[in-house]
Amino acid sequence: MRLDDERESSNVEDDRGQGGGGGFGFGGGGGGGIGGGLVPMLFGFVLSRFGCGGVVVLGIIVLIFGGLGNLGSLVGGLGGGGSSAPTQQIGQPQDDVAAPGPAAATGQEDSSKRFVRKVLASTEDTWAKLLPAQANVRYVDPKLVLYTGRTQSKCGGASSASGPFYCPADSKVYLDTSFFDELSSRFGAPGDFAQAYVIAHEIGHHVQNLLGISDQAEAAMSRGSARQRNAVSVRLELQADCFAGVWAHANPDLLSPGDVEEALKAATAIGDDRLQQAAQGTVVPDSFTHGSSAQRVHWLQQGLTDGTIAGCNTFKDGAV
Ligand SMILES: [Zn+2]
Repeated sequence: MRLDDERESSNVEDDRGQGGGGGFGFGGGGGGGIGGGLVPMLFGFVLSRFGCGGVVVLGIIVLIFGGLGNLGSLVGGLGGGGSSAPTQQIGQPQDDVAAPGPAAATGQEDSSKRFVRKVLASTEDTWAKLLPAQANVRYVDPKLVLYTGRTQSKCGGASSASGPFYCPADSKVYLDTSFFDELSSRFGAPGDFAQAYVIAHEIGHHVQNLLGISDQAEAAMSRGSARQRNAVSVRLELQADCFAGVWAHANPDLLSPGDVEEALKAATAIGDDRLQQAAQGTVVPDSFTHGSSAQRVHWLQQGLTDGTIAGCNTFKDGAV
């Protein structure tokens, strides 16, 4: 990436060393490679927290997009399908998986922080333009909390094993930069742009929050069956991937050769099918909460090439 000329955001809160989360995760956080522990736990949480019904879900989704002004067109095709909607794991953090030790407070730490501040600034500048222009919604900057080990959010507590997540209740992204190392070592997806994609995905959840999609999705999930909740979750996550692509589309100057491939590799590595295969040896599509590798790649690419919010309607009938 070419971040030399990028400003640094002042919205990064550095809580590293505090210890002390939940929200919409990135997928793959801890869960993936860590054996079966996290995945079932995560599903267990979603199950216990939400419960619902299909038609209702569809209706809500129509409301979501129908009430969003020009976003209404997004749902044009929502005629009768009952597909599901967005996703999120609100709430609890998935603990009990070995958390990485405290990161060494070194120059590398500082460079990680500078990197995060620059990428965050880029998302702020991008969405401050795009959101009013494309959805008539003012962009409000979120905070990004850097932590190590454990953290507390309004969505609950989380550990590093949870992976990065966004908490709609406090509009904050929570990130343990050790996840960047995991991306490389555990998921085989190194590179600064892969890391930027992680941040842009979480910011995508913040955009959903500002658009009212998060609340609608949570309401739909609260009334749906487990399968429907997962389907809503998948659509939410894929939309966040698409929004990450929209951000990248708006910032061609930041991209170096190979960057897009890095992000696509990361998206592939954290698909639910890939993670489940690794964790439990089998793949159960109905239990997906973030989407398959192919879906994640598809929606990231969709945002990258199309560059519009409207192009990210993962809730449209047949979209997913
Ligand atoms: Zn996510």
